[in-house]
Amino acid sequence: MVQNIASVLVVVCSKCGGFLLAKAEQKTKACPYCGFKIAVQKAKKAASAKNAYEASAILRKLKTDAVLKRNRANRQKQF
Ligand SMILES: [Zn+2]
Repeated sequence: MVQNIASVLVVVCSKCGGFLLAKAEQKTKACPYCGFKIAVQKAKKAASAKNAYEASAILRKLKTDAVLKRNRANRQKQF
């Protein structure tokens, strides 16, 4: 009855640090930002989701957070 709920993973590219989606059963995934071939099982996972819809929502939030963090860091540098 119990199945692997996480079917889609949000993994972090070990080369550029970008977030990308990968299927849990997928072995490798090319990073859309830098083209690096990521070993999905070994990659750092930022989150996991039940489906692609949920995963893209998480991905959007992670990207927004990253931008906010960057903006905050820039602001701190100015003052
Ligand atoms: Zn990358």
